[in-house]
Amino acid sequence: MSTMDAALAPPESGGWQTIGHSAARLYLQRSHEAGRIAHAYLITGPDQVGKRTLALDLARLVNCTPMPDMFGDDPSPPCGRCGPCDRISRDAHADVKVIDPHTPMRGVSSGTRVSTPEQDAKRSLISIDHIREMQHDVHLNPFEGGRRVIIFDGADRMSPDGSGWNALLKTLEEPPEQVVIVLLVPSAELLPQTVISRCQLIELHAISREEIEHGLIERGGADPDNAAQLARLAGGRPGRAFAALKDETTIDRYQQAVLRVLVTSAGDIEERFRYANEIAREFSRNRDMVFRELELWTSIWRDILLLKHEITDSVVNIAWTEHLGRVAKVGGDDDARIAIEAIAKAAEGLRHNGMPRVVLEVLMLELPTIPSGIVESIELGEGDESSDDSWDAPGP
Ligand SMILES: [Zn+2]
Repeated sequence: MSTMDAALAPPESGGWQTIGHSAARLYLQRSHEAGRIAHAYLITGPDQVGKRTLALDLARLVNCTPMPDMFGDDPSPPCGRCGPCDRISRDAHADVKVIDPHTPMRGVSSGTRVSTPEQDAKRSLISIDHIREMQHDVHLNPFEGGRRVIIFDGADRMSPDGSGWNALLKTLEEPPEQVVIVLLVPSAELLPQTVISRCQLIELHAISREEIEHGLIERGGADPDNAAQLARLAGGRPGRAFAALKDETTIDRYQQAVLRVLVTSAGDIEERFRYANEIAREFSRNRDMVFRELELWTSIWRDILLLKHEITDSVVNIAWTEHLGRVAKVGGDDDARIAIEAIAKAAEGLRHNGMPRVVLEVLMLELPTIPSGIVESIELGEGDESSDDSWDAPGP
């Protein structure tokens, strides 16, 4: 940890569940101590970087009733152990709610569920009914006497007609006392300026590999070797590393995803377009998965670029160093740069509602080809890759 990080680290991080992001934690802690918690926060950052965890930490911070420790001292909130902290962690606190597109619909005022689990799973946008329900809730006094915290995870996913935004804006303009609204989005530019200007902005970025490794060992109980490998693959996103720690198949799926990228890179145009179509179809069901796949492409070409310059320390896909090194050796000087730029352009296109199939086909046309001999040697070496043809999430 550098001196600066040490200076930024909150004095006591015991009850915080957020890994890394010490500046953001300190900012919230100081605001709370000064009685200056805002009515609305906008937390931005990539998928699985820790936005939701930080939002829940904020909910714990403002609702904590610290339990004295074994020496009789009150720890600073969030203590992580008192009733409110515990209920928030178990998603059982009456005044803290996370809303995403899959949140069940409840009748306004009746509170009874009015949507089926199938409908909830299929929904891809936060509905105007979600907002109406929230508008009803925020005018009730908090049941537990603390603060009502409403977290919109994926706040950029509102119906394009603007009705959701207008409704939300109304609440942001006249926020009821004792209510904190937290919006979580990959990037602020996805929200209308009128909404952004009502919120305190907290920007999260990828955190260090060391912080993730430390978190996996301390909080996740991972053994050091596993922690080191997962931290390296996590690309600065603790959520990804923790998901992989819980799911032992993640590493396998990740290996298969890398292989799929290499096979596609060595394939002819027909093979590439088949891949593009598969992913384009997936986009309507699970955008995040598609963005993760593009990140995987970027990480592979970044590794190739590093290996071209014989920088091995920072390679992310370490298990593939030998094969990627061979790609680097035979490829053109500019291949990696062209690939990385093309992938970034495709991601940008998808984010701005380009037609997925067209965007991905253009990407497939622009990506440099890698020698098929390299892939054949991998397939021979690794033997039987699963015949499962479902399109699976790259991990971790
Ligand atoms: Zn507490």
